[in-house]
Amino acid sequence: MIKPDAVANGHIGAILDKITKSGFKLVALKLTSLSAEKAGEFYAVHQERGFYKDLVAFMSSGPIVAAILEKENAIEDFRKLIGATDPSKAEPGTIRNLFAKSIDANAVHGSDSDENAEIEGRFFFSAFERV
Ligand code: ATP
Ligand code: MG
Repeated sequence: MIKPDAVANGHIGAILDKITKSGFKLVALKLTSLSAEKAGEFYAVHQERGFYKDLVAFMSSGPIVAAILEKENAIEDFRKLIGATDPSKAEPGTIRNLFAKSIDANAVHGSDSDENAEIEGRFFFSAFERV
């Protein structure tokens, strides 16, 4: 997912360019937005954390881009491409290093397992929206 900060700052094209040039195939793609309820559902695993309320407010604050990506070793390679959760700790050249300003507004989300990628893909897309 490209988060509301990166969409608002005009980075959709640059981020998709980096993703596709890094060998990821786009399987589904859409510009949409999350209600607070849907954002809360998406990040439900964090509901006990202190930052949950702010995270839900931020993720429902503006348009996002959802995508399903495919690649060998996709989860690990995508986490490497986006960099650390806190952009100040993200390696130079990573998406969060280039396009994010803070741990709250950190430009992109990546799934953390194949299982969660399946669940998150179904959260955003129906079967006929996937190639
Ligand atoms: P994402 O799931 O969005 O790809 P991540 O897997 O790198 O990020 P998670 O631990 O899953 O990190 O946290 C989800 C999101 O919650 C982070 O992207 C960040 O915006 C926010 N977050 C995580 N930890 C903190 C924190 N300590 N303070 C504020 N926000 C945080
Ligand atoms: Mg995560």
